[in-house]
Amino acid sequence: MTAIKAYAAQSASTPLALWNLERREPKPHDVEIEILFCGVCHSDLHTVRNEWGGTIYPCVPGHEIVGRITRVGDHVKKYKEGDLAGVGCLVDSCRECNSCKDGLEQYCENGMVGTYNGQEKDGSGNTYGGYSKQIVVHEDFVLRISDKQPLEGIAPLLCAGITTYSPLKHWKVGKGDKVGVVGLGGLGHMGVKLAVSFGAEVTMLSHSPSKEKDAKSLGAHKFVLTSDKEQVKAISNYFDFILDTVSAEHDYNLYLNLLKTNGKMVCVGAPPTPAQIPAFNLIMKRRSLAGSLIGGIPETQEMLNYCAEHNIVSDVEVISIKDINEAYERMLKGDVRYRFVIDMATL
Ligand code: NAP
Ligand code: ZN
Ligand code: ZN
Repeated sequence: MTAIKAYAAQSASTPLALWNLERREPKPHDVEIEILFCGVCHSDLHTVRNEWGGTIYPCVPGHEIVGRITRVGDHVKKYKEGDLAGVGCLVDSCRECNSCKDGLEQYCENGMVGTYNGQEKDGSGNTYGGYSKQIVVHEDFVLRISDKQPLEGIAPLLCAGITTYSPLKHWKVGKGDKVGVVGLGGLGHMGVKLAVSFGAEVTMLSHSPSKEKDAKSLGAHKFVLTSDKEQVKAISNYFDFILDTVSAEHDYNLYLNLLKTNGKMVCVGAPPTPAQIPAFNLIMKRRSLAGSLIGGIPETQEMLNYCAEHNIVSDVEVISIKDINEAYERMLKGDVRYRFVIDMATL
């Protein structure tokens, strides 16, 4: 075992603080990665504060990990020491069920293992995430990272990027589609960039008037302030597809009513409170409401390659690990343009 430094929450109400944890020695198929950057996802905050329930403490969050390989196990073929590498939201799955065989490990029928707050399949305990100096991961769950783009901008692709890429691909969003993205945060800004790159006409649906200029510079064709009734009325029955990335309780019906006949709304945002949806909002225009969870390993690699090819990265504010608690408060206020990324050299 190797002792390394990390930042952990010891309970739902204590701030993150320095904590030492032990990582396993690389097994034959393991890759050991020195973490250089780790993005800050709103799921980290939901988990640290036990907003979804089920958090195991101490909790070391972080699943937007980019770093450099320091050691590999004897049987590792895909990677070597010195390579750049990424780790996203999952580090293991059963590899045998239909979902795993289809490369949809995130939907593993026997339960995927999250990068943090998960249980190792070999019974060795809890998983700890990227707010730490180093991580050891089976090579099958390691992603290849481009050396042509800034690493801090690539890190958020490992969650915010794939979580928006996957539903846009699954529902075949492209040229000719009118797309609405709800919430301009970490996921939302990647949703805009990706949907625009797929050729869709993209409208940002935001409750923050201050984000209009940014939405346009990210590529959105239109901006609608969702608190303005007139602006909302003007786009009723407008969208083919809406991607909802909102982290807090909100009214789904407002957005459902903006879908045209056969329109689809996909929730990726995961507010802790349940939503009320009258059946008629779906029935009347044969609308669909669906959800989507991150993405599998093959699709995550496909997304990373696509972003490298099209020069897409996240817009980030790099922070010191010491400022992580303040960053959480700013994230709750929507004061982030558009992803905090921790420089792990500060740990
Ligand atoms: P984030 O950066 O905090 O962005 C959330 C955005 O939601 C905010 O910027 C804000 O945008 C909007 N918002 C916040 N409170 C709102 C309210 N009360 N009413 C309306 N809009 C509100 O968060 P994130 O990291 O993008 O994550 C977003 C959500 O996705 C979280 O719940 C997270 O857990 C979840 N998530 C899900 C998956 C998945 O696999 N499905 C993966 C990662 C994250 P505006 O200011 O523009 O309105
Ligand atoms: Zn995430
Ligand atoms: Zn499986």
